[in-house]
Amino acid sequence: MCICVNCDLLEVCSVYQTIENLHSVSSTNIKNVTFEPRKSQIAININSRESNIKHEWDVIFCDSFSLNINKYNGQ
Ligand code: SF4
Repeated sequence: MCICVNCDLLEVCSVYQTIENLHSVSSTNIKNVTFEPRKSQIAININSRESNIKHEWDVIFCDSFSLNINKYNGQ
């Protein structure tokens, strides 16, 4: 799971916006991208079934992580 969903900075983070773009998700949680995180590490999982290939991008470590449980849900 991407740790960004529990990070207080997701609304302003350039890496998080990139992850959402890669997932083709509308960036409803993005407000104003002004923050560049330090040392974020992204894990890429590639799943292929028959002719269907899916990619998953998850931030698995980030020096700038700031805990806010359920940030993604707007709480
Ligand atoms: S964990 Fe890092 S990459 Fe993810 S939203 Fe927070 S600051 Fe950005």
